[in-house]
This record gives sequence, C-alpha cells and structure tokens, in this order.
Amino acid sequence: ADNFFLDFEKICVLGHGNYGTVYKVRHKRTSEIYALKIIRDIDCDSESQSTSPPSQETKILGFIDSPFIIKCHRIFEQLLPSSGGSIAILMEYMDGGTLDTRRSFSESSLAHIAYQVLKGLEYLHACNIVHLDIKPSNLLVDRDLSVKIADFGVSKILSYVHGSDNYCDSGDVGTYAYMSPERLDRDSCRYDPKYVYAGDVWSLGVTLLELFVGHFPFFPPEKKSISWMDLVMVTCLGEPPASWCIPEAASEDLVSFIKCCLEKDPSKRWTASQLLKHPYVLSRSRSD
Ligand code: ATP
Ligand code: MG
Repeated sequence: ADNFFLDFEKICVLGHGNYGTVYKVRHKRTSEIYALKIIRDIDCDSESQSTSPPSQETKILGFIDSPFIIKCHRIFEQLLPSSGGSIAILMEYMDGGTLDTRRSFSESSLAHIAYQVLKGLEYLHACNIVHLDIKPSNLLVDRDLSVKIADFGVSKILSYVHGSDNYCDSGDVGTYAYMSPERLDRDSCRYDPKYVYAGDVWSLGVTLLELFVGHFPFFPPEKKSISWMDLVMVTCLGEPPASWCIPEAASEDLVSFIKCCLEKDPSKRWTASQLLKHPYVLSRSRSD
C-alpha cells in the first residue's frame, strides 16, 4: 500500500456521503478510471464499529463477486495516520452515478432495475450478508442502466449473520426512511432476527416506489424533513403503505409486486428469490 496514492491522480469529487468523500481517480499507468472512497475518523469505540469491524468487512468485500454488486478492487485501512482511523476503498467507477429520484422511471425500466437489485440481494443473502441500507443513493448505475448495489461493508452498513445466534444489528444503522416496520419499532412489531433479510426487501420496495413516483412515496413531495415518528405512524401504525401510496397509473403487476415487498409482517414478506419469479419482474424486465 506504500506508494498507492502515487499511482493515481484525482479527477474530481463525485460526491459526499455521511461518512466520507468519493473521488473519481485515474490510474496513471493504465489510464483506468476508478472511484475512490475515503472514510475518515472512524470511531473505533462506537457500537457500530464493534459489531462490524472494518477487518471483517474487508474479508467480506474480498470474496463478494457478483455483476450486481459494485466491485471493490482494494481496501486500505489506516492510510492516513494523522487522522486516526481512515479507510480508502478503490472501487469500480459507475458513470451514471446514483439512481436519480427526481425523474420517474417507466414500468419496464423499473422492472429492469428491480431484477438487478434482486439478483444482488439474492446473492448477498445467500452469503449471509444483509445490506441494511438499500436506498436510491446506494444504487449506482451506468449509461445503459446497469444497476449495482454499493456502499455495504463500509462503515456502518453491513451486519453479519453467521447463523441467527450471532445476529447483530446496532439498530440505528441505515436511513430511517427506507427502514421496515420491524426495524423502526422493534417492540410493537415483535422483531425476530430470523427475518433480518426481509428488511432489505422492504427498503427495495420503498426505493422502487420512489423511482416510480419521483419523490419519497410515503409523504407529499413538499415535505422536506421526515422524522422517525412520521415513519412509525405510516409504516407501523397505519394501513399497509401499498394500499394507499401507489398511483392509479401503476399496472396490476406492479401493484402486486410492491405489495409483496411492502408486506408489514416480515415473515410473510417475499424473499429476493421469490420476487425474482414475480410476474412483474419475469414479464417486464429486459432479459439482456
Ligand atoms: P451515505 O453516506 O448515506 O451512504 P451516499 O450514499 O450519498 O450517502 P457515499 O456512498 O459516500 O454517500 O457516496 C457519495 C456519492 O458518490 C454517491 O451519492 C455517488 O453519487 C458517488 N459515488 C459513490 N460511489 C461511486 C462509484 N463507485 N462510482 C461513481 N460514483 C460514485
Ligand atoms: Mg452511500
């Protein structure tokens, strides 16, 4: 790792997240373009770090290999001694950035997106990995609408499930807005770790609905700040969201698909593998 940074030149900043900055970089010798994410000041004492230490995440990232998940080429920990714990992640560059939530996608584009994210989730879940932060800004695209899941195993997002005994989820990771009722309100929804993977499916349902309507689907577009209580009210206490927040223009297949994702009871929610066989995905997604 010694001369790692000397081999690259920075082209521009691609974006800032809650935990770090992502740069577009060029490898000088090969001219290959990559994305480099730098996460600074990792607090090693915080709960989320103790439940998902970077070293473990490095291991996970090392073996993940799916066309539906962003490829991490190298990970460097504590590269910048001056700032304590830092991690640099060299990953594949996606020229379309994140899925844009301000436009609304057609049903066939949406099914194409759904298919790819479901393939990624099916893969992760089969590896006993739960993402815990599926949302539009963690889904990266390129020009021809190839979609890849990003931003897992980085700082707070990945939890590990090695059999349900060793289940860990610090509870407040991820973004409330996309959180399933059982994660938002563990007490009244009788949280059962057995269904931890179902949380990713809920988040995908909210994400796809957002991409369909062009704004966060549970509230009117004018509403700018959404609290935990707002979300508990609509997802835990209200009627199932799919019964009131899908626009009438949606096809029957899409309505049914979203209902299967946004099933409030995680034991009844469809799994990623089941959803891949749903008529909406089977009949509408491009098969290329
Ligand atoms: P959060 O911190 O909540 O995850 P975020 O997902 O927006 O927020 P980052 O994951 O740090 O933050 O990414 C910041 C931005 O950098 C993204 O929104 C995206 O636009 C861009 N980006 C990240 N990774 C890549 C990549 N591999 N290729 C192209 N752009 C990327
Ligand atoms: Mg992110």
